[in-house]
Amino acid sequence: MLSLVGSSVSPGVARGRAFIYTSEINQPLAEVTADADVTRADQHERIRVAMDDVQRGLETDACQMSKVLDDASGDIFRAQSAMMQDGAVVTRLDQQLNRGPVDAEEAVREVFASLANRFRNSANTSLRLRGDDIEDLSRRLLLSLRGIHAHRLEGLPEGTVLVARHLFPSDTVFLSRIPTVAVIAEFAGPAAHAALLARELGIPCIGGIRDLMEAINAGDDIIVDGSGGLAFVEPDASTIASYQQRVSQGQDARTGSSPVDRKPAITIDGVAVAIMANARSQEDVDCAMRRGAEGIGLFRTEPFFMASKHLPTAQEFTVFLDHSLEPLQQLRVNVRLLDIGADKNPIYLPLPSEPDPFLGLRGIRVLLRYPDLLEAQVRALLDASRRFNLGILLPMVTLESDVVRVVDLCRALATTMGISDVPPIGAMIETPAAALTIDRFLPHVDFFSIGSNDLTQYTLAAGRENPSVTEYFQDDHPSVLRLIDLVVTEAGSKPISLCGELAGRVKAIPDLLRAGLRSLSVASSLLPEVRRAVCTAVASKTPGPESSGRSITSASVTQNSTPG
Ligand code: PEP
Ligand code: MG
Repeated sequence: MLSLVGSSVSPGVARGRAFIYTSEINQPLAEVTADADVTRADQHERIRVAMDDVQRGLETDACQMSKVLDDASGDIFRAQSAMMQDGAVVTRLDQQLNRGPVDAEEAVREVFASLANRFRNSANTSLRLRGDDIEDLSRRLLLSLRGIHAHRLEGLPEGTVLVARHLFPSDTVFLSRIPTVAVIAEFAGPAAHAALLARELGIPCIGGIRDLMEAINAGDDIIVDGSGGLAFVEPDASTIASYQQRVSQGQDARTGSSPVDRKPAITIDGVAVAIMANARSQEDVDCAMRRGAEGIGLFRTEPFFMASKHLPTAQEFTVFLDHSLEPLQQLRVNVRLLDIGADKNPIYLPLPSEPDPFLGLRGIRVLLRYPDLLEAQVRALLDASRRFNLGILLPMVTLESDVVRVVDLCRALATTMGISDVPPIGAMIETPAAALTIDRFLPHVDFFSIGSNDLTQYTLAAGRENPSVTEYFQDDHPSVLRLIDLVVTEAGSKPISLCGELAGRVKAIPDLLRAGLRSLSVASSLLPEVRRAVCTAVASKTPGPESSGRSITSASVTQNSTPG
C-alpha cells in the first residue's frame, strides 16, 4: 500500500479506480494538426473563430453548472467568458500576432501565460486565485485552435478516481456529468474555483501531492479521504476495513440511496446534537433535505445579491426566498442578511475602495450605510416569516449599538406590516469583539451562530483567502476554541450554533461538543460524516454515561439548539 499525504480540498471519503488525466493540450504538437502555410490574416481569423467557439462552450458550461448546482456556480464560467473578451486581451492577442512570425497558438500561449502570471503575482488575494481561470481559458482556446472538441474526461467509467496534475473549472463540468467518486491533484488549493465546484458537487478532493502522476498507475485501487487530505493506493485489508463504513456512507450520500434520518445525532454519552446544513439556493436546500439535515443553520444570501445587476427589490428577494426555502416546509432556516464588503462588491453599490477591505465596511456596517438595501431585505424576510419557520441572522457584528439599530428596524417594520410575531433575530459571532462581549448582545437577540471562518481570520490575523498565510489560518487553534468555549458559556440558555467550516472538521467535533455546542451547521456533503463523528464522540466535560453536560435530552436540545 502507498499512503499519500496532501491537503484537504473537498471533504468526504470515496474509493475507486485511478484514471490518469493528462490534458490533450500537453500532447506534443506533432501529434495534432498544424498548418504552417496560413497567413497572418488567417491567424487572426483562427483566433476569432476559437474565441467564439470557447464562448459558446463557456455559456453551455455555465448553464450546466447553474442547473446542477446554482447560478453562482454558473457565474464562474460567465466571468471567464467576460475575461476572455476583455478589450485589453483581444488587443494583446492582435499585437502579438502583428509582431512577427507567430501563429495563433503561440500568441494565445504567450498572452494568457503572461496574464495568468500577472494575476498570480497580484497583491489582491481574489485576483491571485483567478490565475487558474486564465490558464483554463488558454487551454480551452488551444484545444479549439487544434480542432479538438472531445474532452478526455468524457465517458469515464463509473467509480473513477481522477488523478490529475491540475484541476481546472472546465474539468469540473465533466465531473458533474459522470459518476466520478474523487479527485487527487498535484496542484489544487482549497480556495480555487475548481475546488469550490468540487465541494459543491460533493466530490472528495485532495491536493498538494508532488510527483503524483508518477506514483499512480491507471486502474490502481484508491481510497481518498478528502477530509483528512489522505489517499491510500492499493490499500491493505486493515485500511479498507477502517474506511469501509465511511466509503459506503459517501456512496449513499452521492446516490441519495440511504434513508433520510432527520433526527438529532446522539453522542455516546447520550447528548443530542442538532445537525443542520448551510445553503444558498433551492438546490442546496433540496440536497440538505435529502441528506437528512434538521434544518438550515445558515442560509447565505450573497450569491443572490451578487448575481443581480441592480439593487434587488423586496419583491424580488421574496420571490427568491419563496422558491429557495420551499423544500423546507416548516423546518427551521436562519437566513443571514447580506454580508458584503471586503472582497464582494456588487456593481450597484458605490462601496468605497478601502486600504484594508476585510477590516472595513462589511456585513452589518454596509447594511447600516445603505438603508434601502437593509429595509428591502428585512421586509422580504418578515413577509417570508408568515410562511416559513425562519430566523434572521445579522452578519459581522462588532458593536452592540449596530445590533440594536437593526433589531429596532426589524420590530418597527414588523409593526407597520401587521406582523405581531417578529421572527427570532440572531447575531453571527465572527469577530473577537463580538465573542468577548457576547453578554452585551444577550438582551437584544434571540440566538447566536458562530462563524468560525471569520472568527479565525480575525483572531489569528491570517486572511482566510490568503495562500501566503495558510499555515496561520488554523480554525481549531486553541485561541479560537477558547473563544468558542467562552461564547457558549456566556450565551447561557440562548441557543447557539456553529456554522463555519470548523463544524465539519470531524477531528474537532469532540472538542466542540465538550465546549457545550449542541448544534452544528455544515455543507450538505458533510452531513453523513458529521453525524457519524457526533455519534462516536463523548460530549460531557467529565466523560461517563451519567454525566450530563449542558443538555442530554431531545427536549433540551429543541430548546437549546434548533436555531442552527
Ligand atoms: C464564517 O465566517 O464562518 C461564516 C459562516 O460566514 P462566511 O463563511 O459566509 O463568511
Ligand atoms: Mg463570515
